[in-house]
Amino acid sequence: PFIEAEKTEGASSNGKILMATVKGDVHDIGKNIVGVVLGCNNYDVIDMGVMVPCEQILAKAAEEKVDIIGLSGLITPSLDEMVHVASEMQRLDFNIPLMIGGATTSKAHTAVKIEPKYKNDAVVYVSDASRSVSVATNLMSVDFKEGFVAERKEEYAKVRERRSNSMAKGKRLPYNAAVENQFKGDWENYTPPKPTFIGTKVFKEYDLSVLRDTIDWTPFFITWSLSGKYPDILKDEVVGEAATNLFSDAQEMLDRIISEKWIQAEAVLGFWPANSNGVDDVTLYSDESKSETLNTLHHLRQQTEMVGDKRNHSLADFVAPASSGVDDYVGGFAVTAGIGVDERVKEYEANGDDYNSILLKSLADRLAESFAEHMHLRVRKEFWPYAVDENLSNQELIKEKYRGIRPAPGYPACPDHTEKTTLFSILDVSNEIDVQLTEHYAMTPAASVSGFYYSHPESRYFAVGKISKDQVEDIAERKNMALKDMERWLSPNLDYDP
Ligand code: SAH
Repeated sequence: PFIEAEKTEGASSNGKILMATVKGDVHDIGKNIVGVVLGCNNYDVIDMGVMVPCEQILAKAAEEKVDIIGLSGLITPSLDEMVHVASEMQRLDFNIPLMIGGATTSKAHTAVKIEPKYKNDAVVYVSDASRSVSVATNLMSVDFKEGFVAERKEEYAKVRERRSNSMAKGKRLPYNAAVENQFKGDWENYTPPKPTFIGTKVFKEYDLSVLRDTIDWTPFFITWSLSGKYPDILKDEVVGEAATNLFSDAQEMLDRIISEKWIQAEAVLGFWPANSNGVDDVTLYSDESKSETLNTLHHLRQQTEMVGDKRNHSLADFVAPASSGVDDYVGGFAVTAGIGVDERVKEYEANGDDYNSILLKSLADRLAESFAEHMHLRVRKEFWPYAVDENLSNQELIKEKYRGIRPAPGYPACPDHTEKTTLFSILDVSNEIDVQLTEHYAMTPAASVSGFYYSHPESRYFAVGKISKDQVEDIAERKNMALKDMERWLSPNLDYDP
């Protein structure tokens, strides 16, 4: 595993690689790890950090005469930004390879959207950190580059062909037919639970020690490129020893994070009376009188042709429609465990201590996810007490065995990141706690989580998937957004080329 990799002193440089997390995006642990791996393999890595505008990336690349540019991003709007960087590399006549990585990127996206924009040299998708060295080495090799690049190009052409075939085949319902096939709650025989307060509640200096129990450790090891489920991974034949050492370092750092208060955790939760319009909008009211509309959530609906009695889901269906006369509610939350992380990370980085820098960031991420889990539990038992007797183990919590969901804007059931504007507005997040949105709707600090709360017993996660132009036109109008802007934000979900 790379965490045991060590740089060979005195060896000559294999090449200069510039890496950046694109404009609007804040996450960079994966990129940090790639940087360490490449550094250990004698590459000179220039890491420009996060939220780096295209012009700065390309100016630096030219100035430093780098051999390769590597872009990373975590959230879907970054995909579009990468397409932009590729186009600019072509326009400005760059002649070096472009590597693409990060959570939302994929071979398909690289093949379909990015590669066609940059013809001068190779565009290569790097699926995980451990691959980065072999990709870079091939790209730098006088003997192997040509063959390696030709292979990738052929592979990506096939991906494009497969995609256009499947797009032609994939049948989508007209939007109104999808609406017709909605999930219908039995509103006559169901009384939605009532939250204990309407409006918001803020939590500062939250006790970190109570967040230890609800940590989900499996994603922690994935972040560190160690694959396997916790706790079994600690005994794994191949990575067990590395995982055990890492885990013990993590526990030690966690002890200090908690006892020396390295991190401040803050949260804001809110609940509002709510009704759907029977289609895809959910109206939130300021109070129980419902005389004043606070805001409106705009949801997207699956348009895939369903088989049997399967429904075309939209989150709006899990809220009682106004026409039912039933009083229903929706909640929202934003939590962070990232306050104080940056300062310490900078210190580690100044000392060249990548290991502890990455360890701290990855633990802050775990604490933020755990905070979201912990708060959701308090919601079900205390603030919106519809599951007071729930008694689930941490494993069961991780498997989401509880009633209700906390869908996060940007995730498959609500892939529109711009809805975070509404969430942040109704919770007044940026005034109440130290969390902001970037221009691409990423949250800073990176160790933050936000979402909505739905309580309906049948509410569940699903993927909106591909949607057609009729729905995109409809939601653009509902959101009062220009069609082309809406198409840009929803670009991963469009079943057509705008
Ligand atoms: N235990 C995990 C939790 C994070 S992933 C961890 O510690 O990393 C699960 C969260 O992602 C859910 O709680 C929800 O907020 C979001 N999510 C998952 N699938 C979703 C979907 N289809 N639509 C919307 N949000 C989703």
